[in-house]
Amino acid sequence: MTVQADTHVVMPDPKAAFDHLLEHMEESGIEPERLGNGSVRITHEGCRLDIGHSPRGLSIAVEAPSANMLYFLKEAAALHVAEVDPQSAQGLMWSDGDQSAGSPVNFQTLTLVRRAEVFPGMIRLTLASDDLGEFAQDGLHVKLMLPSDRSREPVWPSVESNGVTRWPDGEDALHVRYFTIRDVREASAEIDIDVVQHPGGMISDWARDAEAGDVIGIMGPGGGVPPAGSANMLLSGDETALPALARIMESLDASAGGHVIVAFPGNADPTDYLPETSFEVHTIEPAKFRSHVRSEVERLASEKGFTYAWFGGEFANAQDLRKLFKGDFGLGKSEQISVAYWRDGVRGDARTED
Ligand SMILES: Cc1cc2nc3c(=O)[nH]c(=O)nc-3n(C[C@H](O)[C@H](O)[C@H](O)COP(=O)(O)OP(=O)(O)OC[C@H]3O[C@@H](n4cnc5c(N)ncnc54)[C@H](O)[C@@H]3O)c2cc1C
Repeated sequence: MTVQADTHVVMPDPKAAFDHLLEHMEESGIEPERLGNGSVRITHEGCRLDIGHSPRGLSIAVEAPSANMLYFLKEAAALHVAEVDPQSAQGLMWSDGDQSAGSPVNFQTLTLVRRAEVFPGMIRLTLASDDLGEFAQDGLHVKLMLPSDRSREPVWPSVESNGVTRWPDGEDALHVRYFTIRDVREASAEIDIDVVQHPGGMISDWARDAEAGDVIGIMGPGGGVPPAGSANMLLSGDETALPALARIMESLDASAGGHVIVAFPGNADPTDYLPETSFEVHTIEPAKFRSHVRSEVERLASEKGFTYAWFGGEFANAQDLRKLFKGDFGLGKSEQISVAYWRDGVRGDARTED
C-alpha cells in the first residue's frame, strides 16, 4: 500500500523558501534528485518527497508505504516550511484533508497487560493495543508518554490543521521519552518494551509500579532501521540499547558477524536475552560499563578492525565513541552510528546522532 498527499503553500517569496530548504538538505547530507521541471525529489526507505516552486508558492508532494510514515513526512515538511515562513506554514492544508479533529494517526494509548523482570534492573512491559497497526514495521523506536503532573488526567497530543502534532503544554504537558519495541505479537495484539530501572525516572518508575489495566500513551514507530549485515561488525551499548541491539541482531542474516559489547549483570546470561548468532558477545558489569567500554572497543578493534560500528548509550560515551569510529577507525557516514540514548544528570531526551 502506498499513501500520498500534496499541498500548495502560497507565500510571498517561494524561490527563497525553496533555496532555504535545499540548503537545509545539503547541511543534513541529503542529496536530492533534480527533476526536469525545477523540482527536487528525496527518496528514502519507500518514502518520496517532491518539492517545487512557482511564482505563487511551494508545491510539496509526499508518498509513503504507510499512514504512519506519511504522517511523519507531512509533519516534517510543514515544520520545515514553518522555519522559513511560519505564517504560510500555519495555513498549509494537505490534499488528504484536515485531520485536526482526531489524534495523530501514529498515536494511541496502550494498556498494561503484565510486567516481568527480564534480569535484575530491567523490567519488561507487555502492553496491549486494539490495533497494532504499523508497530511491526516502520522502525524500532516509539515515544512513550505520561502526564508530567501524574495527579492530572492525561491530555494526549492532537493534530493542527497543517498536519503538525499539537503537544499539550503548561499543566497538561507530557513527559515523553524514546523506547524500543522489543517484540510485537500480532496474534495476541501485544508489544513488549524493556525498561531499565534507574533512580528518578518517571517512565522507569511507572514500569516498576504500574498495575495491569494502567494506560500509557505511545507514538510511533519510527527510526532506528537496522544496518545491513557485514562480516566484521561491532555492536555495542548499555542496558538502554539492549532491546535495539537484540532487534538488530535478529534482523541480520547468517553471513553477518563480529563482536557485541554490552552492559549486562554478571549473574545473568546474555544469551537468554540476545538472539543466537555467530557474534561473539562480551559483557561488562553495568556499573563499570561507562568507564570500560572504550578500552574494550579499542582492544577488539586492534585485533580485528571493524567494517561497521554501532553504539547506543550515555551521551558522553556516545560522543567519545563517535569520534573513535570516525577518526581512528576511519569509518564513513554509512559505516558507523553512535547515538546518545540518555544523558547523565539531564532529564529528557539526549538524542544526538550523525
Ligand atoms: C532511540 C532511543 C531508544 C531507547 N530505547 C530504550 C529502551 O528500549 N529501554 C530503555 O530503558 N531506555 C531506552 N532509551 C533511553 C530512555 O529514553 C532514557 O533512559 C529516558 O531518560 C528514560 O526516561 P525516564 O522517564 O525513566 O527518566 P528521565 O526523566 O528522562 O530521567 C531522570 C534522570 O534519570 C537519568 N537517567 C535516564 N536514563 C538513565 C539510565 N539508563 N541510567 C541511569 N540514569 C538514567 C537522567 O540522567 C535523569 O537525571 C532509549 C533512548 C533512545 C534515544
